[in-house]
Amino acid sequence: MELFEQMASMGHERVVVCSNPEVKLKAIIAVHSTVLGPGLGGVRMWPYESFDEAMMDVLRLSRGMTYKAAATGLNLGGAKAVILGDSKRDKTEELLRSFGRYVDSLGGLYITAEDVGMRMQDMEVILGETRWVTGVSEAHGGSGDPSPVTAYGVHQGIKAAVRWKFGEKSLAGRRVAIQGLGSVGRYLAEGLLRDGAEVVGCDVDAEAVEKGRQLGVEIVDPDAIVATEADIFSPCALGASLNPETIPRLRCAIVAGGANNQLADEERDGRALAERGILYAPDFVINAGGLINVYNELTGYNRDRALLTTRNIYDNVTRIFQEAEEQKVPTHVAATHLAEQRIARMKGLGSRQWSRFTGGRGVHIHT
Ligand code: NAD
Repeated sequence: MELFEQMASMGHERVVVCSNPEVKLKAIIAVHSTVLGPGLGGVRMWPYESFDEAMMDVLRLSRGMTYKAAATGLNLGGAKAVILGDSKRDKTEELLRSFGRYVDSLGGLYITAEDVGMRMQDMEVILGETRWVTGVSEAHGGSGDPSPVTAYGVHQGIKAAVRWKFGEKSLAGRRVAIQGLGSVGRYLAEGLLRDGAEVVGCDVDAEAVEKGRQLGVEIVDPDAIVATEADIFSPCALGASLNPETIPRLRCAIVAGGANNQLADEERDGRALAERGILYAPDFVINAGGLINVYNELTGYNRDRALLTTRNIYDNVTRIFQEAEEQKVPTHVAATHLAEQRIARMKGLGSRQWSRFTGGRGVHIHT
């Protein structure tokens, strides 16, 4: 009963528990919403301590995908999957193919993609069992590494925030502090430097630091980045970097970065940023470039089209700032409202015709 109650309170449509002891597969697929379209979301492989922990993670992540797609204006619902296990030790071809069959059995309600513990090569193994997979290589008709597109979207979001806060179109001379110089952080730094911004950054990984330095990033200690004086603080490492310990130390006017789940506690920390007068570009809106990129695979991948759609992040972010100002609410609340309103408007459309999504892979689905 508890699961039914949890699903009802969070609004999930369907949860599939996948078990194939012969290949040691234990997985959960959670489809949160298909109101706007099929649920697209990555599959995460993680050594969860318990089934309950895995269930909570997949329920939360799948709901997050619904909001991300809705706020971005994509015709996608929200879903996510988790495989219980250690990706370094337990990932086998047979396990991935078995998972692929479960994905296939949902007939397109759920479309999978890469997430923590998964690589592009794994998506290509899954592709052997189902067409409902994205994030495959360009050779397989896919979009390859999403990081440059994600970084481009974050760059657009930063431009929108600078325009909103300072009334200026240009980033020239603006100082940006990037936490995490991995894939997204590095591409972002490159773009910002090209625009004439000053970039200061950090990473816990020596190789990432060195690559950043070579680009022209001024390097600081990871412990110092939060309190570094800058116009923009850009979290591009792991989640929860905005919390009661870090928010009072920030010395910036804007927070806008690519990391997922930046607010340790949405309500508390979103409000704390607003109260300090720091303009926060909600993470799930500004980092949607990766989702936009794989979404484009469904209609036949085209990099120019993916970048063009990603450019809309500028307008999406601006609309959220506007809504937040008008409604006098923190920006993450405004973003959630806008996503919920779009879903509510689309409910009641009736029969869904998802043929557009399949592109070259062509299958019609009516539900
Ligand atoms: P990545 O692993 O390539 O880069 C993350 C970097 O952060 C690593 O270099 C790591 O060493 C560094 N790091 C970790 N902890 C740190 C700390 N405390 N201080 C400083 N640096 C630290 O990952 P990525 O693909 O660049 O993704 C970065 C973030 O963006 C993640 O939160 C990810 O979920 C999110 N995101 C990525 C994409 C994408 O397209 N790659 C899309 C949407 C969201």
